[in-house]
Amino acid sequence: MNKSSSILKTDIHCHLEACFRHQTLIEIGDRVGLPVPADVGTFKRDYLVANQKESLAEMIAGFDRVRALWFDPKAITRLTKEAVEDAAAQNVRLIELRYSPDFIQNDRDISFEAIHGAILDGISSANTDIAVGLIGIIRRTLPLTEAQKVADFITANADSFVGIDLADQELDYPGQEFAQLFRKAKASGLGITIHAGEISVEESRVNVRTAIEQMGAERIGHGLHIVNEPDLIQLVIDNDITLELCPTSNLLTGSIPTIEDHPFKKLMDAGVKTTINTDDPSLFAIDWNSEYAVAANSLSLSRADIDQCIENAKTASFIDTNTINKAWSAS
Ligand SMILES: [Zn+2]
Repeated sequence: MNKSSSILKTDIHCHLEACFRHQTLIEIGDRVGLPVPADVGTFKRDYLVANQKESLAEMIAGFDRVRALWFDPKAITRLTKEAVEDAAAQNVRLIELRYSPDFIQNDRDISFEAIHGAILDGISSANTDIAVGLIGIIRRTLPLTEAQKVADFITANADSFVGIDLADQELDYPGQEFAQLFRKAKASGLGITIHAGEISVEESRVNVRTAIEQMGAERIGHGLHIVNEPDLIQLVIDNDITLELCPTSNLLTGSIPTIEDHPFKKLMDAGVKTTINTDDPSLFAIDWNSEYAVAANSLSLSRADIDQCIENAKTASFIDTNTINKAWSAS
C-alpha cells in the first residue's frame, strides 16, 4: 500500500478495451479456444506493452491481441464490471471509460446495440457507487462512411454516452474530415475530446489546433507536445481546454524518451489545465495507484498539484456535476 492508494482519484482518459484481469482473459480464452498464457512472464511478453516501444503503432497492435476476448455480450459485461470494480477498489471516484464500437465488433456478428447494452449492464452490475461515464470513439483510420455509422450510433445514444472522441493513428489521418460528425455530436449534447498532440511532430501539433478550432474539442487526449509552442499553449488556455495526460502511456509508446522528460509540470506551470489518467491500464501493466505514484515520484507533482489535477478532472468531466458530487460524498 503506498500513499497514492488513499487519494480519491479521477480518470477521464481510460480505454475500456485495455482494462482486463489476466485471470479473466484466461477463462474467456478457454471458452473460445484462444489460449491465453497463464504464466505471467509469457502473458506480459505476448499480450502486454509493458516495455518502452518504438511507436504508437506497436501499442495499437497490442490492442488487436486482446480484442478477440471482447467477443460476446456475457464476456463484455464481465470485463466492464471488473474494470469499474477495479477502479473503485483503488479509490477512483470518477471514471470515464471510452470504447470503439467497431473495434469491438471486429467484423463479427454482434451489433453496436448489443455491445453497448452489454457494457451498460457491466457498469450497472458493478458493486460500486462511483461516477462512471462512457465515451464513444471514432477511429481516425475509418473511411468516412464507416465513421459516419459509428458517429450516428453514438449520437443516437447520447443519453447513455457522455462524450465522443477521435482516436487511433494520428499521422496521415487529419481530423478535418470528421469535423462535421463532431459538430453534430456536440449539438446532441455530447462532450468532445480528441486524441491529438501525442507525437512530437508538426502534424500532431496541427491536430491540436484542428481539434479546437474546427471540431469543438473541450478536451485533448494527450496534447503534451504543445509544450514548446507558445501559440498552441495560448490557444488551449484561451479556449479553456483540459489536457488528458497519460504519462506512462507516453513513455511506453515512445512519445517521450524517459518518464522524467514528461512535460506535465511545465504545462501546469504554463497555466494549462492538466489531469492524470491511465489510458490503457491493463495493457500497460499499470493501475491507478501506480500512475498517481508516477505523478508524485517521477513528475515532481506536489500533493497540491495532484489535488489540482483531480479538481480539473471533476470540472472537465462530461458526467453531470450532481453525479460526481454524489460519488464524492459517498466515499
Ligand atoms: Zn487514448
